[in-house]
Amino acid sequence: MVMEAGYFDEGALVGVLTAQPLDRVLDYRAPEGGCQLGAFVEVPLGPRKVLGVVWGSGKGDWDIAKVRQVIRVLDAAPMRDELRAFLEKAGDYTLTPMSAMLRLATRAPGLGDPPSMRKVYRLGHAEPSRMTDARRRVLEALREYGGLSFTLKELAEMAGVTTSVVKGLVTQGAVAEENSPRDLPFPRLDPDLGSKELTGDQAAAAETLRAGVGSGSYGTVLLKGVTGSGKTEVYLEAVAECLRRGRQALVLLPEIALTAEFLTRVQARFGAQPAEWHSGVTMTERRRVWKMIGQGGAQFVVGARSALFLPFRDLGLVVVDEEHDTSYKQEEGVLYNARDMAVLRASLCGARVVLASATPSLESWANADAGKYDKVELTSRYGPAVMPEMRSLDMRAEKLPSDRWISTALQSAVNARIEKGEQALLFINRRGYAPVTICRACGHQIGCDHCDARMVEHRFLKRLVCHQCGETKPMPEICPSCETEGRLAAVGPGVERLTEEAVKLFPDARVATLSSDMFGSARALKAEIEGIAQGSADIIIGTQLVAKGHNFPLLTLVGVIDADLGLQGSDLRAAERTFQLMRQVAGRAGRAEKSGVALLQTYQPEHPVIRAILSGDEEGFWKAEAGERRHAGVPPYGRMAGIILSSSDVQEAFDLGNALARQDAPLRRIGAQVFGPAPAPIARVRGRHRVRLLVKADRGTPLQTALRQWVGQFRLKGDMRLAVDIDPQSFY
Ligand code: ADP
Ligand code: ZN
Repeated sequence: MVMEAGYFDEGALVGVLTAQPLDRVLDYRAPEGGCQLGAFVEVPLGPRKVLGVVWGSGKGDWDIAKVRQVIRVLDAAPMRDELRAFLEKAGDYTLTPMSAMLRLATRAPGLGDPPSMRKVYRLGHAEPSRMTDARRRVLEALREYGGLSFTLKELAEMAGVTTSVVKGLVTQGAVAEENSPRDLPFPRLDPDLGSKELTGDQAAAAETLRAGVGSGSYGTVLLKGVTGSGKTEVYLEAVAECLRRGRQALVLLPEIALTAEFLTRVQARFGAQPAEWHSGVTMTERRRVWKMIGQGGAQFVVGARSALFLPFRDLGLVVVDEEHDTSYKQEEGVLYNARDMAVLRASLCGARVVLASATPSLESWANADAGKYDKVELTSRYGPAVMPEMRSLDMRAEKLPSDRWISTALQSAVNARIEKGEQALLFINRRGYAPVTICRACGHQIGCDHCDARMVEHRFLKRLVCHQCGETKPMPEICPSCETEGRLAAVGPGVERLTEEAVKLFPDARVATLSSDMFGSARALKAEIEGIAQGSADIIIGTQLVAKGHNFPLLTLVGVIDADLGLQGSDLRAAERTFQLMRQVAGRAGRAEKSGVALLQTYQPEHPVIRAILSGDEEGFWKAEAGERRHAGVPPYGRMAGIILSSSDVQEAFDLGNALARQDAPLRRIGAQVFGPAPAPIARVRGRHRVRLLVKADRGTPLQTALRQWVGQFRLKGDMRLAVDIDPQSFY
């Protein structure tokens, strides 16, 4: 970015970036009173008024007589150079138009609204003419909190009185009623409040992280430690140091369901809760968070990946917890990986990054191995907890009937746990009742009308659901193909079917099922998880959801129903994913005093990945995996980009795909290769046909520039869409 003058006088030409899908920055005249570089403004665009950001001086390549004036400057802190640079670099990296990048950075409603006010109440100067019990309680509540003010409802609730009591005190001047901006700053956090006494390992790790934050410069640390080793305790010390230095901290979590437990820990550690930023946050609260982060009224944010695009005033630390988690990759709209973007943003604002995981991604492992990232390690669980013993159960010897999935060995292990009053988790990474519904008369498998995918039966919902597009339909009575009645059958297990089996096998046990689609709200899920942690169930049946960071102290047995499931894909990360997932799930067992066991049901116990999981030889696994990827020239040792063409017309998608493959000169110039076009593994989604190409290049080549030239040779016709996925994580 060219450094620009920081201020534009009234009438000066400014370039304004808007979130409208135009591929350019538009010229305007600075409004009355002028405007700052980075200012959020409202500008006329055709007949409309739209939000924009002053991106620099105007180019002057527009008919000067037609240049219109900025309508007004909005009441928000101007976007800082650092964030503008971040959006540009991230847009360059992911080949995303700037308008879409700006949309990511302005995802809060009512940014243009004038600051709205609300009434708040604080202690007044007069004494009430007549003191009642209720009135005394109100005044005491206010005195207790010093000079703080509250809304009418809060104050009445705190004092246990009706709002009319407060109103009465206002008339008397004993309570003062004031107007205050609605978007209030967040409570201050106290970094020196309640830190736990750290073990030797933890203290050393915390010291490294603290020193990093203290340096005030960019750097990334991989914080590796088995589940339950105290990674969270340790990185909270880095957050504390960041807060002491007056800088802002951001912690990214892969799953909203994990926030509740985290908030409680922050409250205990710092005396107040951080700001939250994720899809479960209300619109008004989003606006408050967005504004307060820009004004410095929020010191600490916990959120989902999109929190990276918040207008931090002085971001000093980003923690990416469970950094290997695939949900950090956004798979729709702007295709970015929050882990990589965290590193980019931190490097631009002199912040530290902590990547925390028990099972790091191969990318991070390789970066640490190459010395690009620092690495600190916690090798043992905190307290008496030890890592669970892991064993495989060879399913070939079991000879189970085709509608049963719990082996006799696993069954008796579960029974033994229940007898001791402990919990067992049965893990299966498949939502719904059965992945396939087949007609026993004609062999037809029920598919989605809009996607090239099978419909998954969900008995809980009494419907068939497409996991691609979300389309649902009632379970039919007759086969949609041959119209035979009563021959439709469920094939294979999902979490609901496993529950059915468990209820039969363990009639006296309390069985709880945890799957992301079974809870209407995040709150209901949180309540269920808390209940389970306190022992409300004997057997937990769960999907991937339970693999992530929850603490179940009574849980001592994990049974993995199908350890081979993830190994079947052609995905280059299949081995890595299976390794991570199995280790994570196993890590749920024995987190408190009781030791745990993890049993993996498998048909291929001698598979190298299964062997690596069982032996716990992580370094060995990573080295072998790294060797294979290096040999194949794939990430992180080579670069890849996926091109996804989608169109309602399959022929047009293939025609464009073939043209791209033919006209590959820009790619050949950097030695990159194109593969495809080929139908995507899921060749139709929401009625659109999908065709993929894959580009492979050496590390260190200017891949984005070449891709831009290559793709830029073509104009998209009709409803054709072209998406470029840099470093693709999934190949669906
Ligand atoms: P991780 O993030 O590595 O899974 P946590 O930080 O969640 O581990 O720690 C696991 C559990 O052990 C938590 O309940 C945590 O509060 C507790 N714990 C970890 N270290 C300490 C410590 N030094 N003192 C007291 N409790 C600790
Ligand atoms: Zn569908």
